[in-house]
Amino acid sequence: MECLEVYAWLQAYLDSGVTAEQERAVEAHIRACPYCRRKLVAMARVVNALERTSDISPRADFTRRLYEALEEEAGHPLAPRPREPRR
Ligand SMILES: [Zn+2]
Repeated sequence: MECLEVYAWLQAYLDSGVTAEQERAVEAHIRACPYCRRKLVAMARVVNALERTSDISPRADFTRRLYEALEEEAGHPLAPRPREPRR
């Protein structure tokens, strides 16, 4: 997966959600690509901010799992953590 594909996927993530296959592909890419990790952390903050201002959070679980992957990679907690989804 190329970085540009990741960026296109991130836009899709914000607009309409993604498939489990896309999630796995992006998670694998960000583990290998420091540039996309930084990009994705910034995007996750935007998503988290959006979720605080609306009731739509269907992808909150993915955001949480993504943060867990990023924290495992970084070796320390990232802040701010996205909130847990309401179910
Ligand atoms: Zn990349």
